Amino acid sequence: MRQGRTSARMLTVALLAAVMMTAVPAAGNAQKTEASAEVNTKTAATDRAQQLAQRRELFERMSAVTTIPWHDFAAIDQYERSLNQALPKLRTASGTLLGIYIPPELWSGTLNPDQEDTSLTGIAMFGGIGRDGNGDGKADRTDDDDLLYTIARHVLQSGTNDEDFGIGLWEYYHNTRAVQRITQFSKIYETFGHLDLFEHAFPVPVGTRYSYRSTWGTGRSWGGYRIHEGTDIFADYGLPVRSTCYGIVEIKGWNPYGGWRIGIRDLDNVYHYYAHLSGYDKTVGVGDVVKPGQVLGWVGSSGYGKPGTQGKFPPHLHYGVYRDRGLVEWAFDPYPSLRAWEQSDRKKKKGSG
Ligand SMILES: [Zn+2]
Repeated sequence: MRQGRTSARMLTVALLAAVMMTAVPAAGNAQKTEASAEVNTKTAATDRAQQLAQRRELFERMSAVTTIPWHDFAAIDQYERSLNQALPKLRTASGTLLGIYIPPELWSGTLNPDQEDTSLTGIAMFGGIGRDGNGDGKADRTDDDDLLYTIARHVLQSGTNDEDFGIGLWEYYHNTRAVQRITQFSKIYETFGHLDLFEHAFPVPVGTRYSYRSTWGTGRSWGGYRIHEGTDIFADYGLPVRSTCYGIVEIKGWNPYGGWRIGIRDLDNVYHYYAHLSGYDKTVGVGDVVKPGQVLGWVGSSGYGKPGTQGKFPPHLHYGVYRDRGLVEWAFDPYPSLRAWEQSDRKKKKGSG
């Protein structure tokens, strides 16, 4: 909650909602559907694991040819995929395993009358960037090897060391955010050493005392009228605030609205914002890679003033999520995700103990 006038009524409503939530009994007759849903989930998980393994193999193979590390390829591919998700009407991946989207006119050459041209001489003649990565003599936009090799050749034009990689990315995207994202993603992949990094966690430990409800778009007045972009999780001072995702710390420090806040970027190119903390875990700094459930700090009531201001409202975690669409970022409602993560954390807790 970021309104200036914090009413006791709102808090009561939130607490009441929490009591009602815990009072809902588990439905017994839903067991059968749950079981078949579980089988489907398992099949989907296996398919996904296979796909990730194939993708990894492709990155390794191209790495051997180009000297670009596999995690750089993984980062480019994942950044491209995140743009497809954000801009589905403008971009569709043309390959099978990869998320990379290269527009036809860029691939074949702007003035090429055949936008689906796969002939190396034709593409070269019209200045297209399409290359042959699998050695079949064609540059095919629907072939994963050709796509990845084309990107690699383009990025490598500037050289092969880390700095050159950044310059190469800039030459390709002409967008500093793209370069920053890909560099961030690469570090996440390199740190964990694998591609399966999309698990989530609820931002506070389940089984503790907290409450929250859907408040998307509610007005607030401190610092002028703005829309409430996030969900408030009410809890006592000192409850651990945890990362909801695998990601990298992008921002940490004081902000007049958010108080002590921290911002984390995940591999879906979503920015997770945690505000009003009472303090930070000392081990977490800007540029550090974090995992789901890792403690970032503690619930507090900091904000609405100069650095150190606190107690202007009841302690709570303000949690917001923003999706990067390449040039701009849009807030979206975290509430549905929070409910899902909370449920999954509860299940995990039951399973483990
Ligand atoms: Zn809030």
